Amino acid sequence: MFDDDPAFKETIASVMVPVAVPGPYTYRVPAGASVAPGTIVKVPLGPREVLGAVWDGEPDAAINPKKLKAISHIYERARPLDEELRRFVDWVAAWTLAPPGMVLRMVLRSEEALEDEPPITGVRKVEGHMPERLTPARKRVLDTMEDGLAWTKSGLAHAAGVSASVVDGLVAQEVLETVSMPAAPPPPKPQVDYATVNLTSSQKVAAEGLVASFDKGAAVSLIDGVTGSGKTEVYFEAIAEALRRDKQVLVLLPEIALTEQFLRRFEKRFGVYPAEWHSEITTKKRARTWRGVASGDVRVVIGARSALFLPFSELGLIIVDEEHDGAFKQDDRVPYNARDMAVVRGHLSKFPVILASATPSVESRVNCDLGRYTRFELPERASGAEMPELKAIDMRHEGPDRGRWIAPELLEAMKETFADGSQTLLFLNRRGYAPLTLCRTCGHRFQCPHCSSWLVEHRFQGRLVCHHCGHSEAVPKNCPSCSATDSLVPCGPGVERIAEEVEDRFPQARTLILSSDLPGGPERLRREMKIVEDGGADIVIGTQLVAKGHNFPKMKLVGVIDADLGLAHGDPRAAEKTFQLLAQVTGRAGRVTGGGKGYLQTYSPDHPVLKALMSQDRDAFYAAEIDARRAAGLPPFGRLAGIVISGSDKNMTDGFARALARAAPPDGAVTILGPAEAALAMVRGRYRFRLLLMAPRQYDLQGYIRHWLEQGPHAVKGMRVQVDIDPQHFL
Ligand code: ADP
Ligand code: ZN
Repeated sequence: MFDDDPAFKETIASVMVPVAVPGPYTYRVPAGASVAPGTIVKVPLGPREVLGAVWDGEPDAAINPKKLKAISHIYERARPLDEELRRFVDWVAAWTLAPPGMVLRMVLRSEEALEDEPPITGVRKVEGHMPERLTPARKRVLDTMEDGLAWTKSGLAHAAGVSASVVDGLVAQEVLETVSMPAAPPPPKPQVDYATVNLTSSQKVAAEGLVASFDKGAAVSLIDGVTGSGKTEVYFEAIAEALRRDKQVLVLLPEIALTEQFLRRFEKRFGVYPAEWHSEITTKKRARTWRGVASGDVRVVIGARSALFLPFSELGLIIVDEEHDGAFKQDDRVPYNARDMAVVRGHLSKFPVILASATPSVESRVNCDLGRYTRFELPERASGAEMPELKAIDMRHEGPDRGRWIAPELLEAMKETFADGSQTLLFLNRRGYAPLTLCRTCGHRFQCPHCSSWLVEHRFQGRLVCHHCGHSEAVPKNCPSCSATDSLVPCGPGVERIAEEVEDRFPQARTLILSSDLPGGPERLRREMKIVEDGGADIVIGTQLVAKGHNFPKMKLVGVIDADLGLAHGDPRAAEKTFQLLAQVTGRAGRVTGGGKGYLQTYSPDHPVLKALMSQDRDAFYAAEIDARRAAGLPPFGRLAGIVISGSDKNMTDGFARALARAAPPDGAVTILGPAEAALAMVRGRYRFRLLLMAPRQYDLQGYIRHWLEQGPHAVKGMRVQVDIDPQHFL
């Protein structure tokens, strides 16, 4: 009955709320207000008030208006989310099968960003007023303020070299008055021609190709160049072109620890720092960047995957550096791959996207082979340095003594490297001291009470830690099972244990552990990366963190403690990921000077991945891996989806997973494996079962899953069904 009352329709709107519901809700618009799609609002939702955005599509006019709640606030100062961003949110939701509100939630992350930045309170001299007593400290303050301008209190105290209480005292005596100062001015713009470099001939070809891609709409390019070949220099030319065309640029990096070096390089080339976006920036900075991106004041953002959901007003280029990296995949909430979604965002808005890697994903290489992406190859290091010489150490015959982890041959090479004043990197992708602790009297193994994983000893902290849920406990004196004293033994090495061996062997060397879990957080990591870069450490022991993109000019030797780690996984990409990781980490050696060496400690030197690494034949590895994927119908030749069913009762969860699998609509094109207990069978007290779906490339797997899950059976309370389209991790 309300449908045909046009006056009424104008007073209601569809609002997408950032919660897990299937679509927008209908709200009443306050009298006199009008809200275009994209307007950011606040609405009541149950007992709460939440942010939301007015969405497209007709509101539901069939609802009794008396039952409708009203929009409680309209953010007039915030730029509405534009059409392209709204379509992107819808697209990501449809692809990942996540509720669209949960995707919108990644856009509307900061409420502070929706209002203007509050003005800062400053102080200014009151003409003719003097303090009762002119102490030296007070005099310094007044001298500092000679210019008559307003200062922030902290800035003034700092400049005058006094404590804040001196300034407060002068305010109390009305010698100074408080004034409102405008918030930070917009950041300075990057300068396109600030400092250009002379590109080598293959770099020039790539840079010109990237610049030309701006006239082709949604073109995707892959810069496929060995470590140190100048990929960053090359895509800087594409950034310059985007800036010339008055477009904003987003650069995605897989790891916060990489941003520091990037910021400095960007500044050297463009004269200013780009804006940063990742989990470690302050709320205030976050809000400023969000606003700046929306207003267009911010021209270049360097960020983690979540930066993809920033409300750019003039985005015209996305670069995904280290595009093969697993960190671009988010596994929880909305499971999306930022690399793939970057390509989608470029496609929807018709601008170029550039992927860069020394070890591209098989998916991207195939897309190049098929002509979907354009590949630019940089086969040589920019410095002219040759690629490192690699050698496998067969741990079955050439390993170290029991209780030691560094083989004699690697040790010898480390001695030479140290003597010659160069750096060594020892790589082991295992945090902590030892991955397993057991009691030598009764055989008790320390396991997490909430997860099916061993507790990892962290000797610096003196604790046993679960790497899945963060549970930690002090290392006990006695075995909790048999009470034996001093009977616990660490099994296997982590980086801390390797460091212990290094310190024992090289007492004069400056050693440094680079691992994400050490106290001090990202700040400390940044500092330490810089120390390594500047040659302030001789031997670095690091986890996969150090494998990514860094340029350490003095590093000559890389030793991989356990090259087999990661090959045994039930992961269809295990070979690819191991190849990438080991090629990246050994690629740190001799980047600038040449003469680099890499040693890979392995129990299976004949494994095809190790053979491919030794022979330095990347193309042969890709060709073989692509053939194997094609033959097995694995991505990108076939499609995969994972479904994880989890719950706190093991039997009920298992039963539900089975019932769900039985209810799968029969379809000859879809193969369903499982349910099987997940490799990580329990996490945070929840039991986990997995289904794996395989389908041909062109098959609408999302449509199939949507239909299946709608039909049921439906998850009962406490049970969770998480779909992961194109899973990257299989735990
Ligand atoms: P990649 O990103 O491929 O690992 P980078 O862009 O970091 O390589 O380049 C490696 C090093 O070589 C950097 O120090 C970079 O400044 C330098 N470099 C690259 N290309 C040139 C060039 N054409 N002229 C001078 N230095 C270059
Ligand atoms: Zn745990």
